[in-house]
Amino acid sequence: MSKSDWTAPPREALRASVVGPIADYDPSSTPGYSGDKDSGAKALVERGAVLADLQEKLFANGRSGDHRNVLLVVQGMDTAGKGGIVAHVGGLCDPQGLAITGFGKPTPEELSHDFLWRIHKALPPAGKIGIFDRSHYEDVLPVRVHNLVPESVWSQRYDIINQFERELVDAGTTVLKVALVVSKDEQKKRLTERLDNPTKYWKYNPADIDERGYWEDYLQAYQAIFDRTDNDHAPWYLIGADRKWFSRLAVCELLIDALERLDLSWPAPTFDLEHEQRRVADC
Ligand code: AMP
Ligand code: MG
Repeated sequence: MSKSDWTAPPREALRASVVGPIADYDPSSTPGYSGDKDSGAKALVERGAVLADLQEKLFANGRSGDHRNVLLVVQGMDTAGKGGIVAHVGGLCDPQGLAITGFGKPTPEELSHDFLWRIHKALPPAGKIGIFDRSHYEDVLPVRVHNLVPESVWSQRYDIINQFERELVDAGTTVLKVALVVSKDEQKKRLTERLDNPTKYWKYNPADIDERGYWEDYLQAYQAIFDRTDNDHAPWYLIGADRKWFSRLAVCELLIDALERLDLSWPAPTFDLEHEQRRVADC
């Protein structure tokens, strides 16, 4: 029912190289998915159970010496719903199996190191799904748009990132990267809501209005990321974020797909099963 609402695997339908360029992408579209909001919300519940099962298997294997793990990078303009992905997709999993890190403006200490320093420290341990709410890509987004470092420095970061992610993958991390694409109109609506609702004031940052003024520059900076760092071993997916139900379902499906391809099985007992069954029966 719900899974069949996908007319193409999200891994193919949402790949940045397929659906881009970002400037022409319709953030209210649902590429590869023919269902509506109701069926999408139902599907998230059903598929969430599948995700949870796979995540537990990954965690169990991590406890049994398997070094593999997953890293989900979540990027997107302000209000695109990055926190919602963490809460509503991460929330489908056992919190024990997650390693969630949000990256804000670098601290003076972080700035005194290489831009990947704080990223290395936050990488997920074996058996866990790491979720990055913003990431090393900020170092070629606001940093590029505002020239926070000279172009000669930020322009080298694409190659450095590619090499970093290649090493991560070679060491057993499945890397997937999602860019949540919100429209300018929808962003205005969400910013307005934040000011209309006292429970959302905390989410409002006056600086977001200034960043909004650089919309086209950000689109260009995002496109440069897709052009230079969308690799088969660490792919970028472009996910329309005007419909939150869709972005959450799509990320859930992409994670399921990544975990399924790890071909996990439940760890075998490290003890004599029959002997232990007899002991439990007799105790
Ligand atoms: P938020 O995600 O709403 O907590 O905002 C975090 C802010 O930190 C955003 O304005 C980001 O663009 C900014 N930020 C994150 N990483 C960097 C970075 N490496 N350089 C400059 N600004 C950054
Ligand atoms: Mg913010």
